Amino acid sequence: MKQASGFEKVAARCWNLLNEGKPFTPIFVTGTLLLFYISEWFSVSFWSGFLFGLGAVLPLLVLYYHYDFPLFLRNYLWLPLIGFLIIFDHFSLTASLFAIALYFFFTVFFWGTLYYHLRIGTSWTNFTRFWKLVLKNSDSTSGNAQEQLPKVLLIIGIWTMVTDSFIGSSLSIEWDKLLMLYGAIFLFSYILHKYLFDWKPTIKPTYTEDVKSSNNKNEKVIMIVIDGMRKERFQEAQTPFLDSLKKSGTEYSQMETVYPARTVVCFSSMMTGTYPFEHGINSNMVWGRGVKVETIYDSLRKVNKSGRLLGIAHLVDAMGDDVDTVTAVMHNDVADSNIMGRAREVMKEKDPDFFTVQLIGTDQTGHSRGVLYDEYIQKIEEADSLVEEYVNWLDENGYMENTTLIICADHGQADGIGGHGHLDEGERFVPFFMNGPSINAGKIVEDKHSLTSVAPTVAHLLGAPIPSHSRGEILTEAFNHRKEEKD
Ligand SMILES: [Zn+2]
Repeated sequence: MKQASGFEKVAARCWNLLNEGKPFTPIFVTGTLLLFYISEWFSVSFWSGFLFGLGAVLPLLVLYYHYDFPLFLRNYLWLPLIGFLIIFDHFSLTASLFAIALYFFFTVFFWGTLYYHLRIGTSWTNFTRFWKLVLKNSDSTSGNAQEQLPKVLLIIGIWTMVTDSFIGSSLSIEWDKLLMLYGAIFLFSYILHKYLFDWKPTIKPTYTEDVKSSNNKNEKVIMIVIDGMRKERFQEAQTPFLDSLKKSGTEYSQMETVYPARTVVCFSSMMTGTYPFEHGINSNMVWGRGVKVETIYDSLRKVNKSGRLLGIAHLVDAMGDDVDTVTAVMHNDVADSNIMGRAREVMKEKDPDFFTVQLIGTDQTGHSRGVLYDEYIQKIEEADSLVEEYVNWLDENGYMENTTLIICADHGQADGIGGHGHLDEGERFVPFFMNGPSINAGKIVEDKHSLTSVAPTVAHLLGAPIPSHSRGEILTEAFNHRKEEKD
C-alpha cells in the first residue's frame, strides 16, 4: 500500500485552498476578474483600476472570510446584493454571467468530474449527477453554490464598478454610498450571527475529571473511523458484523460531532479531547503547524506507550509524526481494502497500544455521488466486511485479548455533495459503539455525548494521563468493572 508522497501532501494543501469555502472566495473572484479583463492587461489604467477595486472590496473579503453564512443564513446573502443593485446604477452583467459560468465549470466539471476521475476513478459522466448535488449542497466548502454565488456576485459587482471607472469611462464612484453599504452589511452580518446562529454544540466549560475505575488496564484500544458514515444510512445498510459488535458492546446513540464538522477538525477534537477554539484546527486547511494542545499521543508517550493514526495526508497537518499516511489517489473501489492491508502492516511493524484507522471509501462516495443513493449504502456494507476481516485477523494474531474496540464516524454527511461542516441534517450525530472485555454488553447510552470524549476515554483505558486540555467526559457508562468484581 502506497503512502502519501511529499507531493501529495503539498497537493492536498493546495486543493484545500480551493476546496474550503473561505479561501476559495477571494481566490476565485481575483482569478475570474483577471480572466475577464484579459484584453486590458497591457493598459496601465486597467491595473490601477484593478488594484483600486481590490482595495475597495477588501473589507468584504475580510468579512466573508470571517463569517460563514451557514445553512439557512446563506439566504440572507442576497439582501446586500439587492441593496447594491438598488443603490448603484453600475452592474456588469457580462462579468456576473462569466463568474457564474466559471463557478459551475469549476465545481461540476473540474472538481466533480475531472478531479474525481483522476483521483478516485469516478466516471467521466459524473457531471450529469454532480450539478444537482452542487445546487443542494449546504456545507462550508466552495461547492456550496447558494453561499458562494451571492458572495461572489456582490464582490464582482463592486470590483468591476471601480475598475471600469478607471478604464476610459466617465463613471464616477460614489464612495459615501459604498461606505454606507459596507456599514450596513457589517452590522447585518453581526446581528445574524449573534441572534440566529444557535446550533453549534455547546462547549463543555471545564476540563475532564479523571475517574477511578478498574478499566484502566487495557492492553490496546483499536478505533476504526468510517469517515463520513451518516447514522441513519448506516442503520439502513446490511452490516451484520458491525451490528453484532454494537449488540455485544455499548452503543452511544447520541454521540455528537464538533463544529465545524470537517474531517481534520473532528479528528483533532477526538485526539485532543477539546474543541476547535482550543486545539486551533478550524477547517481542513491547516495554516500553522498542527494542534496547539496535547494529544492522546503525547499522553501515551508519558507512560511509554504509543499511538498511531493511519489516515489520509491531511491529518499530518494536524497530528504530525503520529500519523501513518495512505495515499488518497486511488480508485475508490479499492481504497478501503488497501487501507486495511496497510493497517495489518502497521500493527505488525509498530504494534501501537492505541491504533486508529480511517476508512475513506464511504465519505468519498458520499462526496462524489451523494449520500442518498444506493452506492453510498454499498460502501458502508463493504466497510462492514472489511472491518470483519480485519478484526478476525487481529484476533488470530493475538491482538484482541485485552483490547477495546471503538467503531465510529467523524461526522455524518448531508444531502448534496456529501457535504459536512455546518451541521445540516444527517451530520451532527454519528454512529459510536465500543466493544471488548472491559465494555458492557448490550447497553445503549442515550444521553448526549461528544466526540471530545475519545481522547480522555482512551487515556483512561490505557492508564495514561488525560491530555492537558481535554474537556470531554470519560465514557464510564460503557465500563463493566469486570476486574473490580472479581477482586
Ligand atoms: Zn471526514
